[in-house]
Formats: sequence, C-alpha cells, structure tokens
Amino acid sequence: MFRSIRSRITITFVILIIITMLGLGIFISQHSRREYLQHQQSELAIAARMISDAILPGLQGNADPQSLDAQAKYYASLLDMRVTIIASSGEVLGDSEGNAAQMENHNDRPEIVQALAQGQGNSTRFSDTLGVSMLYLAMAVPSNEEPLGVVRVALPLQKLESDIYRMQQTILLATLIAAALATFLAAFIAERTAHPLKELTKAVEEIATGKFKTGFVASSLIASTHDEIGKLAQVFNQMAAHLNTQINALESERVKTTAVLQEMSDGVFIIDAEGKICLLNLAAERIFAISSDTALGVSFAEVVRYHQLIELWQHCKDTGEAQSAAVEIPDKPLYLLVIAAPLGKVAPGNILLLIQNLTRLRQTERTRRDFISNISHELRTPLASLKALTETLQEGAMNDPTAAHRFLQRMEKEVDALSLMVSELLELSRIESGQVPLNYKATSPHDLIAQAVERLRLQAERAGLTINIDCPIGLPNIQADASRLEQVLVNLIHNAIKFTPAGGGISVKAQPGENEHKLGTVQFSVQDTGIGIPANELPRIFERFYKTDRSRSGGGTGLGLAIARHMVEAHGGKIWAESQEGQGSTFYFCIPMAQ
Ligand code: ADP
Repeated sequence: MFRSIRSRITITFVILIIITMLGLGIFISQHSRREYLQHQQSELAIAARMISDAILPGLQGNADPQSLDAQAKYYASLLDMRVTIIASSGEVLGDSEGNAAQMENHNDRPEIVQALAQGQGNSTRFSDTLGVSMLYLAMAVPSNEEPLGVVRVALPLQKLESDIYRMQQTILLATLIAAALATFLAAFIAERTAHPLKELTKAVEEIATGKFKTGFVASSLIASTHDEIGKLAQVFNQMAAHLNTQINALESERVKTTAVLQEMSDGVFIIDAEGKICLLNLAAERIFAISSDTALGVSFAEVVRYHQLIELWQHCKDTGEAQSAAVEIPDKPLYLLVIAAPLGKVAPGNILLLIQNLTRLRQTERTRRDFISNISHELRTPLASLKALTETLQEGAMNDPTAAHRFLQRMEKEVDALSLMVSELLELSRIESGQVPLNYKATSPHDLIAQAVERLRLQAERAGLTINIDCPIGLPNIQADASRLEQVLVNLIHNAIKFTPAGGGISVKAQPGENEHKLGTVQFSVQDTGIGIPANELPRIFERFYKTDRSRSGGGTGLGLAIARHMVEAHGGKIWAESQEGQGSTFYFCIPMAQ
C-alpha cells in the first residue's frame, strides 16, 4: 500500500485531512448547535420580557381573560412562537395554540415552577397540549411582592432541529469540499516530491545497468526544484560526471593495456585461483596454437599440456613467490623462458605467466653453431690434405719429379675445392644479405633449360646418363635474371648427375604452375632415377652444408641447394623436392611469369 513515496504522502495526507475535517465538522456542528440553541433561548427571553411588559397592566387590573388570550395569540403570530400567559396560581390565562379555559393548571410545569421561584425558568420537553416537543422559556411577571404571573414562550423543537440539520448539512458540504481540495493538493505535492526522485531512480538504474551517459539527469530536475531533492539531483549530477570521467579514464587505460598486451611478442596468461585461464594474449595463442575462445575459463593444465609449465605455475602458487625457468619442448620445437608471478593482493590466488618465445633465437644460434662446426669440418679435410702433401714434399718427394708433379696436382685440386667453397660461401652470404643485384628480364624457360643442359651434357654422357628436355612450345616467359637462374638449374642437374648411377636418366621439364599457389608461374623440374633421399632428410637438404651421403657427395660443399633456394626465393619463387629412396628424386621450383 505504501510502496511508493507518492502514495505514502497522498494516503497519509488524505487520512490526516479526513480525520481533521471530520473532527472539525463534528466540533463545528456541535458548537453551532449549542450556539443556535443559546441564541434561540436569548431570543425567547427577549420576547418573554417584552410580552411580560406588555401584559403587566392587564394582569394588575385583573383584566379580562379574553383579552389576555387575545394578546397571547397576537404576540404569538407577531413573533412566530407559542405564547402562554399563566397566573401565579398556575391557571392558564391565555394561550396562542390552545383553549386557555380548557387547559389544565400549569403550576407543575418545571419551567413555571422555576420561573415563579427564580424569575426565569426553561425546559425542553414534550407538550401535553400540542403533542410535540418544545423549547420552553418562562419569565415571571414581576410585581412588588409575589410575581403576578408567568409569561411562557416556546418554540417547537422540530423546527429548531430542522434549522440545525440544515446548518450541519452546510458544514458537512463545506468540509467535503475542503477535504477534496486538500486531497487534490496532497496528491499534487506528493507527485511534485516524488517526480524528481523517480528521475533520479531512473538515472541510477541506468548507471546500474551500464547504459550511463554524462548529464543524464535532466537539468530541468535541478531547475524545477531548489529543495533537498534538487540539491540531491545536483550532487548526483556531479557524482555522475565524476564517475563518467573515471569510467572513461579506466576505459582508455583498459584499451591501452589491451593494445599493449595484444601487440606484445611475449605470451601472457593470467590463471585464477582455481587454475582456470582468465586472460591470454595473441602471442600466447600463437605460441601454443590455441584460441582464446576455447581456452578462456578452461583449466590451464588442460590447455597447455606441458608438465614443465604446469609445475612452474604450481610451484609459484604453492610458494607465493615469483619463479622463472627455461622450458624446452623438443617435439614442437619450442624453447621458452617462463616467468610465473603471483598477482598478490590485487587478485589473490591469481598467477601471471609471462612467456618469452626464444625458439627462433635458439634456432639461429644453433644454425650459427652448426655453420661454424660445418665450415671447420669442411675446411679441415682439404687443409689436412694440403698439410700432408706439403710435408711429404718437404721430406724428399720434391726430389722425385714424377711424385712431386702428382702431389702438386693433388694440392691444386684441394686448393680449387677450397676456393670453390669460399666463393660459394661468399655468394651465399651476398645473396642472403640481398647484395646480389638481379638483372631481371623476360626470359624464355626453354632457352634457360637448353643452355643449362648444354653445359652439363658432356659430363652426363661421361657418367653414362641420358639427359632429355621436356618444354612445351609457347610457354610464357618468366621474369628472371637468366644467368643466375641458369646456375640454379646447373646446380640441380649437377646433383642429379652426381647421385644417379650410370645407365640412369635425367629429365629437365618446364610447365605452367598448376595449383592455386603457383598460378602465374612457370614450374621447372629436374628428375633423376638416382639413389633418392631418405624421407627424414628431405626437409633439411636446403640447409647450408647439409649432405645426406658424405661419401657420394664427394667434392660437394653442401651449399649448392642452399644457394639455389635463396636464388629462387629472391626471384619471388619457391623450391621443393620429392624423392623416393632408391628410385630417384625430383627437384621443383617455380618462377613468376613476365608481365
Ligand atoms: P653438394 O654440393 O654436396 O651436392 P647440395 O646442397 O647441392 O650439396 O646438396 C645437398 C645434399 O642433398 C647432397 O649432399 C645430397 O646428399 C643431397 N642431394 C642433392 N641432390 C640430390 C639428388 N638429385 N639425389 C640424391 N641426393 C641429392
């Protein structure tokens, strides 16, 4: 019933008004009734005195009862009331309403008794003569000694009551009108009081539901009221503006933090007290090949299945102290530097994991180490051989011209191998650092293949191998530095010759690139029927110094394919190999067509 301020104020007011008005009405009507009756009494007294003065001579001179009766009737009609003249004995001398002669002695009437004793008497009682209730006032007609008689005037109570009833009705009507006006006023005041509160409530609700904007509380609220609610609205507006500034500041901080977090190259996880992931960044997604959609809210141990990481997190959680460790996951391969730190009081039980991915750095380091060890290894053999030959010469072989000549020839070979390796290394490093200027021209694939094959045909024939070309007429030109790309083909054909036993065949092909990645390119291939490459070694053959079969590769440096890969990639192309051990290998590369 009192759930809203408006109804509380209205209903309280209305009850209060009704009680007050009702009390006031009853009081006024009682008071008016009393006043009215008193007023009527005093009117009756005046009338009785006047009549008493008028009939005094009549009573003194023993006047004719007829004339007294007539006087009674005369004054009764003049004053519109009942008039009775009674002798001090109680005998009725005249009466305006009845027949005086027939009326009984009135000396027992209380008002008469009182008047004869005290000069004036009154009573309200039932009239035997008239058969109605009357208001009586009797006044003794004074003389020197005993009263001469009594004048009694009376008004029927019914008339007085109906006057009073009318008066009370008027009071009731006035009360009702006043109550209605007061009720209306109460409702109006209640509405005026409650309205700004309602607006405020709406604004607070907007804040609570997050749909909040600055200045939401209408300025009319403040303008319309200058009372406590107006002040409240004003303070609320200030608070709202302050809140909004803070929300905006927080939001911009959040955006910045998110941007930093997402752009970071280090992976970040925040794991809650229950071990579930409550935040992760893009780098973390990339490192562990997971998606935040599936990882958020899921157990860390379930998402990242590496026990080293889980143990580190667990240890940090148990000790409450920051932990760090280098974690290597060889299967991936991944090499990570992980720091686990508790978030402390900010978020008790939550752990921050910072993951630095050092895999590439590690790989580069390993490649560099491998490179140095490879190059030392490659240099050691010719150098040791040179050293042995020089020693042998110094120890006397120099004096044997035939032996000396052979030794010098071998020394020359070793020096050639060394200088080939040095020049290839130099070439590779120049290509890698982008220092080799490529002289692009529209080049015919057919010419390219023909020249490369021509350079090696003799060598192939000597090795007992057939070599053929398969290049359709009308193949589009490619955009290439012809001499460099010819060198790539020579390297591949040279390898095919080296790794194919006599009697085998080599086929050099060119055709338009087929699948979607190779559209707009010409695909070259060098196929042999040689020894092939083991499947596990296939992915590594393009690395520097990589040789599958050291005994067979002979004077090879292991740099030929690395140079070929770099050169093809410098042309915007791609190189790869397919092979079946014991059956042969096919090397492919594709080069973009000329515009
Ligand atoms: P190399 O100068 O030693 O030939 P490459 O870089 O040209 O060095 O080749 C690397 C390794 O790949 C070789 O040592 C060989 O083991 C392997 N290889 C290359 N081409 C072939 C081929 N056609 N058939 C079999 N193995 C090959």
